[in-house]
Amino acid sequence: MAIRIGTAGSPTGSNLSGMSALEAAGLHAMEVQFGRGVQMGSALAEKIGEERGRHDVALSVHAPYYINLLSQDDGKREASRARIVESCERARRMGASPVVFHPGYYGEMNKDDAYEEMKKQIRLVLAEIKGWNVAIAPENTGKDSQFGSVEEVLSLAKELKTSFCIDIAHLRAKHRGNEDVKKMLDDLPSGHMHFQYSGVEWNAGGEKRHVPIDEKHFTAFARELIERETDATIICESPDTLNDALKMKRIFERIDSTA
Ligand SMILES: [Zn+2]
Repeated sequence: MAIRIGTAGSPTGSNLSGMSALEAAGLHAMEVQFGRGVQMGSALAEKIGEERGRHDVALSVHAPYYINLLSQDDGKREASRARIVESCERARRMGASPVVFHPGYYGEMNKDDAYEEMKKQIRLVLAEIKGWNVAIAPENTGKDSQFGSVEEVLSLAKELKTSFCIDIAHLRAKHRGNEDVKKMLDDLPSGHMHFQYSGVEWNAGGEKRHVPIDEKHFTAFARELIERETDATIICESPDTLNDALKMKRIFERIDSTA
């Protein structure tokens, strides 16, 4: 079993210098954030790729938040696909994978129609990134209005042979704290998993915001992974990403030493 824990974004504020800082701190993953748009040029992506070769830090990418593959507006769907493809282009240069994205909003669509349209849109993205060696990972979401239950994400991944990302905070918010993590883990296919983790607050519509981790909750999650010998990367998305990632690492070490 191999677990890599890392941060959402670089703890130094620079993706280029972040990898050595993480490695020095004993962390081995970093998710490059394109949250507000892909502002990284191709040359910098290349440089980050070279630097990555010098460190034991796995890189992944979070595509921009402004993605709605289910928009009623053709132009907006096309722009959403372009944001994923552009993220993949930089990821390819960095040697980063997967590229995680929030798929979109149901809007007026019923769930079956939304699923079919999502499949169509993701197929168009896959056609553009063919041969790039970058996996795309639709992520489960935390709001009721957002497409992306764990079931939908897993089913897309299976049908389209994509990767996927499970965000535990989103799972909690969608189920208002009554999530069944054991069952979710039992339903996952075998192979490497990409998780995101943080504490979370929710309201009537689901996810409200990410907050620092709850050590007790994370300990229970870590125990489940250890019990299943799951290979995983866990990206800490708490507002205190570096410190919480380090806490998560210590929790794993503590369980391992008492096992
Ligand atoms: Zn996300």
